[in-house]
Amino acid sequence: MARILVVEDERKVRRGLERALRSAGYEVETAATGDEGLARATAGALDCLVIDWMLPGLEGVDVVRKLRAGGRSTPVLLLTARDTVDDRVFGLEAGADDYLVKPFALAELLARVMALLRRGRPDRETVLRAAGLEIDLVRRLVTRGGAEVALTQREFAVLEYLARHKGRAVTREMLGRDVWNDPNYALTNVVEVYVNLLRKKLDPPDGPSVIATVRGVGYRLKD
Ligand code: CA
Repeated sequence: MARILVVEDERKVRRGLERALRSAGYEVETAATGDEGLARATAGALDCLVIDWMLPGLEGVDVVRKLRAGGRSTPVLLLTARDTVDDRVFGLEAGADDYLVKPFALAELLARVMALLRRGRPDRETVLRAAGLEIDLVRRLVTRGGAEVALTQREFAVLEYLARHKGRAVTREMLGRDVWNDPNYALTNVVEVYVNLLRKKLDPPDGPSVIATVRGVGYRLKD
C-alpha cells in the first residue's frame, strides 16, 4: 500500500484530504506544520508527499527544497492558493513535481496523486548498505548474503534510521523524535528494547554487535 504524507495546517482541509486518500486505499499520515512535515518526510520511506504551500513556520516550498537538498526524490504535489505563472515556476523549481490550485475537487487531487505514484520516483537511494546488510527501502526487506532477515515494521524503521546515520552516533532522543515521532520515548526504555531486538536478529553468533552502544550518547550502526 502506498504511503502518503499530507502536510496542511487547516484542520478541515487536512481531515478532508486524509479521508479522501484513505478511502482511495492509501496509507495516510498527516502533519500540521512544515517542520513536522519535513521531519516525517525525512524519517520514513514515503511514496508521495502532498503539501500546502502556506504553512506556519517552514513553508511548503521550503520543505520541498530541503527534502531535495537532502537527496530525497519523493514525488511531491504542492497545494496552493497562489496561481500566477511565476508561482508555478517557483514551486516547480523548488522541486515539486506537480501543482494543484485551491480550491480543487478531491477527484482531481486523487488523479494527480495517482499519476505521481505511477510515475514512480522512489527515493534515489532505494537500498541502504551497512554492517553487511542490504536494506531495501522499496520492498521493506533486509537481507544478509541474500538471506532475508525478518523484521517487524518498527524494527525496520529503527534499522533504517540507524543505517541512514551509519558510522555515526544516534541518540535515543533522535530515535524517539524521528522514528516514534515523540521525543518522550527517549525517557522510556522502548528505544533500548527495540535496539536489543535488532541485535538479537542481526548480530553474528560470535563477535561484537553490529549496533555499538556509545556510552552516554546512544547507538551506532557499523558502517
Ligand atoms: Ca495553509
